[in-house]
Amino acid sequence: MITLALSKGRIFDETLPLLAAAGIEVLEDPDKSRKLILPTNQPGVRVVLVRATDVPTYVEYGGADMGVTGKDTLIEHGGQGLYQPLDLKIAACRMSVAVRADFDYASAVRQGSRLKVATKYTTIAREFFASKGVHVDLIKLYGSMELAPLTGLADAIVDLVSTGNTLKANHLVEVERIMDISSRLVVNQAALKLKQAAIRPIINAFSQAIERNAVPS
Ligand code: AMP
Repeated sequence: MITLALSKGRIFDETLPLLAAAGIEVLEDPDKSRKLILPTNQPGVRVVLVRATDVPTYVEYGGADMGVTGKDTLIEHGGQGLYQPLDLKIAACRMSVAVRADFDYASAVRQGSRLKVATKYTTIAREFFASKGVHVDLIKLYGSMELAPLTGLADAIVDLVSTGNTLKANHLVEVERIMDISSRLVVNQAALKLKQAAIRPIINAFSQAIERNAVPS
């Protein structure tokens, strides 16, 4: 049995066409079912639904053989014990620094001010500001980061940005783009060895589907 860990929402939705390319069809809609283990048309493959931040943990410890997770989540997890064969190019967005429109970020950085930065992504934020030589006090949050600069909790946030609409709606502006983010396939290293015959064809089918979808540059 191959167990694939996915999180509900964008990652689940955007993984479905890749699974279809591997001949795998999920037989239940997670929005209509309360089940956390979903069968597929292939008796040897099932999907488990877990929180996005738990996908690397499930795969690392073998609760799932494979999973799909954002580069952001992988960096924060550390990626230990995970084979990362493919950038699936799905759930694309970017990790950015944003501030209130009336906060002069450039001059704060130039003057060497100590910045208060609120984020869920403390590893990415710490490494980014260290590489710029900017001193920061990091404030760990688990959601609604946009609120932090508006309430005076922080000068800046580090968060995922897709269309930019959430920032705009909260009168925040993007001042730095830290990195592009997309989702990766992760595979448990022991499972890759022990279940090669089942896992390799799935990796290959995903890989071919990504190549077909790639926009020629
Ligand atoms: P947007 O308003 O389109 O810029 O989306 C920003 C909001 O959606 C932020 O709260 C992000 O945390 C979240 N978001 C955007 N893209 C992703 C993604 N690929 N994965 C997870 N969260 C995302």
